[in-house]
Amino acid sequence: MQRPDAWWGREAAPRRALVAAALMLVALVATGALGVAYALAAVAVVIAAAWIGSSRRTLIGAVSSLPERRGPRIADPLVEAVIAGLPDPVIVLDREGRVLAFNTPAGRMAPALRRGEPASLALRVPEIVEAMRRAVAGNAPQRVEFFERVPLDRWFAACVTPVELAVAAPGFERGLVLISMQDLTPLRRVEEMRADFVANASHELRTPLASLSGFIDTLQGPARDDAAARERFIEIMKGQARRMARLIDDLLSLSRIELNQHLQPHTTADVVSVVRQVADALQVLATERGVTIAIKAPPEPLVVIGDRDELTRVFENLIENALKYGGGGKRVDITLERADAADGAGEAVVVVRDYGAGIPPEHLPRLTERFYRVDVGHSRAEGGTGLGLALVKHIVTRHRGRLTIESVLGQGATFTVRLPLSQIAARAETAEFSKA
Ligand code: ADP
Repeated sequence: MQRPDAWWGREAAPRRALVAAALMLVALVATGALGVAYALAAVAVVIAAAWIGSSRRTLIGAVSSLPERRGPRIADPLVEAVIAGLPDPVIVLDREGRVLAFNTPAGRMAPALRRGEPASLALRVPEIVEAMRRAVAGNAPQRVEFFERVPLDRWFAACVTPVELAVAAPGFERGLVLISMQDLTPLRRVEEMRADFVANASHELRTPLASLSGFIDTLQGPARDDAAARERFIEIMKGQARRMARLIDDLLSLSRIELNQHLQPHTTADVVSVVRQVADALQVLATERGVTIAIKAPPEPLVVIGDRDELTRVFENLIENALKYGGGGKRVDITLERADAADGAGEAVVVVRDYGAGIPPEHLPRLTERFYRVDVGHSRAEGGTGLGLALVKHIVTRHRGRLTIESVLGQGATFTVRLPLSQIAARAETAEFSKA
């Protein structure tokens, strides 16, 4: 049975109009008011009008369904969930380059990203836009690297991959484009550091080497028969050879310590005795510079898990630096004490304080970089290699300790080393105490 709507509903109005028009025409022809030819023409006009009306409705229907197909472009919840779990920036686009979804890292990297808008508006990286075009045109993944200067110098790699969904997801077409980015900055920094390191090390070695070969030429030539000049030049050559040896020594120590950085030492050492020994050995230099070294230490040992030789290098470097660069203050204070670390465990705190010229604040964060010096000329004149504080930092890190540097320009510098106390030694000490 036909549903009443098929005839009486709104949708059936054209059909009713058509039937009514046909009946009227039949009546007009029958009464002789209208010729048959006119009547047929009128029928054709009515049919055409009804057809246009219905196809217009189809057209309007299609347009009004567009927002549903094109319009608020949101990705499938599964896609959203998957990209939300990825640590790198990821953006999902349609083939026209409009954003369908993106994760938080992508939003952080390009805050102007908006769903439904062209990604090129927010990314503004010509390399990516071009890669998107190539990826869609050739239906093949594209990888590009690019560099951003603002707000910070950063390098990225972007992979633009066309993806074909097995089934059309409701809301958008099957062809998608996936942009995933990778921050290459840490990798590039390491590469740069390695290149800088090689350049610096060769430069540091080439300088004394050039001086040595210069003196050799002079001794073989103009100064061949000058006994006094020979003595003087040989002394200088000895100094340069010592500098080269020290540099090679420091480089080797640094690479050895870096290699073992993850391995905590398994021996113990008393920092009080290490510091006293180093200060004694540097007494000659202190006297030469007219500097007084004052040590304040507890009567009991401060035993840490540590390599005695490496800890000796740490305090040698810090006290020698205080004498060389801070000697102008004529006094170096060394304080040792036991303290409680944030986690409640005990630690040995060693403070080396001088009253010299101090260090400008902009240099403080970079002092522990290899070959970094505030004043290269001063360091060279003091026989420095620029590796001392880098060594100190690596050794302290290996010992699971911390190094802090503070300075007020014109008032000297303070280097503080914190090292975790050996728990075994602490327990033995407590046992001794309770026995007593
Ligand atoms: P160097 O071999 O040049 O002494 P370091 O790594 O030990 O290398 O020190 C790096 C730089 O830090 C030094 O060249 C010097 O400019 C600065 N510095 C280190 N200790 C002090 C200090 N106590 N007072 C002022 N400047 C210092």
